[in-house]
Amino acid sequence: MAEAHPLMLYNTLTRKKELFEPLDPLNVRMYVCGPTVYDYAHIGNARPVIVFDVLFRLLRHIYGADHVTYVRNITDVDDKINARAAEEGVPIRELTERTAKQFHEDIAALGVLPPTIEPRATEHIGEMKAMIEQLVKNGHAYVAEDHALFNVPSWPDYGKLSNRSLEEMEAGARVEVAPYKKDPMDFVLWKPSKKGEPSWPSPCGIKKRGRPGWHIECSAMAEKHLGNVFDIHGGGIDLVFPHHENEIAQSRCAHDTPVMARYWLHNGFLQVEGQKMSKSLGNFITIHDLLQEWSGEEIRFNMLRTHYRQPIDWTRKSLEESRATLERWGETYANCGGSAGAGWLPSADVIDALKDDLNTPLAIAKLHELAKEAKGGAAAFANQWAASAELLGLDANRWRGRLMSASVLEATDPDLAQRIRNLVDARSKARKAKDFKKGDRIRDELAAMGIALKDSKDPETGEIVTTWEVRASSPTEAAR
Ligand SMILES: [Zn+2]
Repeated sequence: MAEAHPLMLYNTLTRKKELFEPLDPLNVRMYVCGPTVYDYAHIGNARPVIVFDVLFRLLRHIYGADHVTYVRNITDVDDKINARAAEEGVPIRELTERTAKQFHEDIAALGVLPPTIEPRATEHIGEMKAMIEQLVKNGHAYVAEDHALFNVPSWPDYGKLSNRSLEEMEAGARVEVAPYKKDPMDFVLWKPSKKGEPSWPSPCGIKKRGRPGWHIECSAMAEKHLGNVFDIHGGGIDLVFPHHENEIAQSRCAHDTPVMARYWLHNGFLQVEGQKMSKSLGNFITIHDLLQEWSGEEIRFNMLRTHYRQPIDWTRKSLEESRATLERWGETYANCGGSAGAGWLPSADVIDALKDDLNTPLAIAKLHELAKEAKGGAAAFANQWAASAELLGLDANRWRGRLMSASVLEATDPDLAQRIRNLVDARSKARKAKDFKKGDRIRDELAAMGIALKDSKDPETGEIVTTWEVRASSPTEAAR
């Protein structure tokens, strides 16, 4: 047997593709910045969730499902949350609970596995305060006007992740100039709360009650659940500066460590139909909206057709292509009698593609090759194909459910197939007799059973021929 390929990951910290070596292969540790819960997650938010879900699946495959700890947090204290709750006139807790629930429903539909731990910021205030006190104690932070601030010039390594000088960062960031800051780049660790805002007793002898800044949340939760130094930290490329730069500054200065995480992974930007997504352009797409028209499988597959580090252009055309591919695969899979979850191993080609810095487009090309083999071969091919797809979080049983040819249904459920044939014939007769109302009624009845009709003209006789296939398994299940 050929030697297995090693896992290679592109590390933002070193700007190189590197061999991945975990600190402890019995406990591979990954942290990914999660959502701030105040509104429906948009399709840009879905990208890191899907990308790092594929990495989580791959790590589980390599090191064993019990040997990977994946932490993805929920930010449930934030200015945007306070503003939205005030706007809606609802308690903050109600807004964050509702939004977190929506987020979980949306990403479950996208086939995303739950992380090992999903910590909430408001449940880690004690850890944040302890870290802030440590930073003040060792001279990297200070207290001014009821704020605690990180002093950026106190730490020469600041800017290494984003590879920028202090001057460049200052010019690039819209730094908030405030009289209590020693340096314009200094950032908030803790700030006083206004009346009606969530607040906790403050650290460092600050009298006024306050709340944490966003960056300290991730540093404290990562420390609590993964330790002072861990393997992988992920997120969108937009988080590199200032969020991840600040996380690194806080964690390394508090723990006096050479790194916070050893590998920093970032997914590229997402734009919609060639434009930046924004509410003002009216092209702001939520996962929730997309799920009204497309299946989670289609959305996920469409996302993974682009390599995670490349920018992705989210278009209707590419969604349609993704749908067509999954429909073709579903038909092949159903016709050759594949059954996912039968204990088959994924193909080495697909694993190797993913081990090469999560090359999902190559993995999908390999899935196309496996589909071809499955088409002409035995169920075993289809099963290996399904197991390979599962590594990408694609569930072949779902493609199968979405489309089944008439011939397969006739083989598996002849009675139901006969009922459908009778209805299709009755519709054809009604249409021939120009009773289109009746014809449409029968078509609707079939649609409710999950049957899709296709009318085409016989090129020789000129007569209309109607063929049909089964879409979405559940309605026909009900019809049985
Ligand atoms: Zn974070």
